[in-house]
Amino acid sequence: MTDNLVDPRDSRTPLTLLGTGAMGTALARAWLAAGHPVTVWNRTPARAEPLGAEGATVAPDAAGAVAASRLVVVCLLDDASVGEALEHADLTGRDLVNLTTGTPAQGRARAAWAEARGARFLDGGVMAVPPMIGAPESGAYVFYSGSPGAFEEHADTLAVPADTRYVGADPGFAALHDVALLSAMSGMFAGVLHAFALIRREDIAPKDFAPLLVSWLGAMAPAAQTAAEQLESGDFATGVVSNLAMQVAGNATLLATAEEQGVSAELLTPYAALLERWLGEGHGDEDTTGAVDLLLRADRS
Ligand code: NDP
Repeated sequence: MTDNLVDPRDSRTPLTLLGTGAMGTALARAWLAAGHPVTVWNRTPARAEPLGAEGATVAPDAAGAVAASRLVVVCLLDDASVGEALEHADLTGRDLVNLTTGTPAQGRARAAWAEARGARFLDGGVMAVPPMIGAPESGAYVFYSGSPGAFEEHADTLAVPADTRYVGADPGFAALHDVALLSAMSGMFAGVLHAFALIRREDIAPKDFAPLLVSWLGAMAPAAQTAAEQLESGDFATGVVSNLAMQVAGNATLLATAEEQGVSAELLTPYAALLERWLGEGHGDEDTTGAVDLLLRADRS
């Protein structure tokens, strides 16, 4: 039974990981646990040492780490730190996977930069926090975009820490999907803060209120699906259940309640003002989705 003698490391793709911060460490641990030979580098060496004790090879510099594996994953603070860390590395023949959060333009520029240095490039957007990495039931996934060949070749390895979602050859698309979801989340978090502020001075326990908030937001979330259908068809007026005129009137109640409760309306007013402008353009009988057009107008008026 020679199979038992085969070291799984012999059959797993070796990889290099630059950046052993919170996210990089979680990623490295997932690959190590799956038997991949992992070389790590971190600007502050002490932060890579625990991974050394867990079986990773710790490289003394970034260029040496890049030389150790054909597949190089980068998870640093921001795009500038990626440029800095890779400044003296030879990327010829490397597959560079950038899991550093950035903008779409940074993803595209970094792709051109890497390709000019002889590498294939994938940009990634991690939709998870570190404890979700390497936990198959957590719902963690990573958007990837860029070189289709590099994604195809490394799909199995990249799927080890979290599920993968390849969103196209345009290297800006991973960041665009990532940031679009984060932007929607930011609106949700703003709403949550405002809701807690409204009840804060009353005899309502936040822990009793929270389940109501969670289930309400969950019940409303599928509205995004309806909005998508309307944007696809261009029809914002058929089957509308809560039309714009009603929602603008409702917003007046939200703003008045904030005033009554002594809560700043600063998180509500931009959205209320946008919908009011759209109403002023005669869309009262429609759903609110068409207001996307206002956000796209160059003069924002
Ligand atoms: P950390 O702050 O824990 O780690 C940042 C890493 O970047 C460290 O390895 C740090 O090195 C390194 N770094 C910073 N500046 C430079 C530089 N100029 N040159 C070289 N290395 C540098 O952040 P995370 O690990 O949490 O985040 C890493 C990336 O993952 C970010 O882009 C983040 O947006 C993304 N991400 C993080 C999530 C999270 O919840 N943590 C969720 C989704 C994405 P040093 O130790 O020397 O400071």
